[in-house]
Amino acid sequence: MTLLRIDDVYQSYEAEQVLQGVSFDMQQGDVDVLMGPSGSGKSTMLRCINRLTEVDSGDIWLGDTHVTAPETDVNELRQDVGMVFQDFNLFAHLTALENITLGLKRVKGVHAEQARERARGHLDQVGLGDQTDAYPAELSGGQKQRVGIARALAMEPKLMLFDEPTSALDPELVGDVVAVMQDLAAGGMTMLVVSHEMGFARSAADDIHFLDNGQIVESGPPEQLFEQPEQDRTAGFLSGLQ
Ligand code: ADP
Ligand code: MG
Repeated sequence: MTLLRIDDVYQSYEAEQVLQGVSFDMQQGDVDVLMGPSGSGKSTMLRCINRLTEVDSGDIWLGDTHVTAPETDVNELRQDVGMVFQDFNLFAHLTALENITLGLKRVKGVHAEQARERARGHLDQVGLGDQTDAYPAELSGGQKQRVGIARALAMEPKLMLFDEPTSALDPELVGDVVAVMQDLAAGGMTMLVVSHEMGFARSAADDIHFLDNGQIVESGPPEQLFEQPEQDRTAGFLSGLQ
């Protein structure tokens, strides 16, 4: 089943044309990775999928929800799309557990005790079962990011978007976050990940899309894109990563 369909999406900010006819599909359970130079439109593409940014033209579908239709209920849409950001976006005055229960109670209307139980389950899932009462300032960057992932998972999204989830982390903390993402991928979660982590891409990605100047230059499975890129721009970019 096609879960996500991006069809000829254009987007601009005032004078600047960012996305210039982006199209790709993801099947349920797929893990796709978006790579490309800074400023190529990767974050903008993710933001269009949960309507943090509006497209100029083109269509996005999530299952049978027409994401880009003006009448679509954005709050309902966002419950189906979990988002994990580079800079965690945790509430500093709430514990790890409370960061997760907040949305469950306010958005999903889950009763407090049940919300705590579900939050504990998701903290266990990301290896933080022993940090439920820690405040963000007491956690490492990698732990904060894993709370961010648990928080997104708690909403039971159909699709998870990750925007450079490991690029703010010290190198020694990247592995734990990547391991959690690999677990999720193996468990069948549909994930669209902006990341230049070759290890994650190689082990988990079905397809990699190389974006440059708001266009997908080349797409393919990691072994094809990494070993035999067809486009010089893809090859040039990848050689700079290694
Ligand atoms: P990437 O994530 O690939 O680095 P972005 O999607 O963040 O790229 O940005 C694409 C282009 O859009 C960049 O030139 C950036 O400066 C511009 N841009 C991003 N967000 C905004 C914004 N809120 N207002 C104006 N321009 C923006
Ligand atoms: Mg970005």
